[in-house]
Amino acid sequence: MNMKLTFSDLLKRNKKKLETEKVRVEKEIKTLDASSKFEHVNKRLQESEYESKVEDIEIVEHNKGFREMLTNYLGQIKKAMRNMKRHKYGVCERCGKRISPDRLKADPAAIYCLECATLVEKNETA
Ligand SMILES: [Zn+2]
Repeated sequence: MNMKLTFSDLLKRNKKKLETEKVRVEKEIKTLDASSKFEHVNKRLQESEYESKVEDIEIVEHNKGFREMLTNYLGQIKKAMRNMKRHKYGVCERCGKRISPDRLKADPAAIYCLECATLVEKNETA
């Protein structure tokens, strides 16, 4: 008997992980939206107008970055789930090669192989 995880085992395991992760990230975005609205109103009530404006901008900017990151991640989760339905899970979106099972195990939402992920990341930060 081979103790190694088969691809269909991995698929089943990652499907569950992605479903849980999707719910978690969606909830986090909602909480973030609700809290940033609340903080915004609260700050205005407590502080002088100038200070509150500066801090508001900081909070909004910080939350915006965090929210963007979460939204991107959620998009990736959804893509990975869609790929599962189309039986294309584990195939790199960019080059069409198989993504290594180890990479999928570590990151169920991976839609690029390691090589392409590095390239895409470089492009995004450049
Ligand atoms: Zn690739």
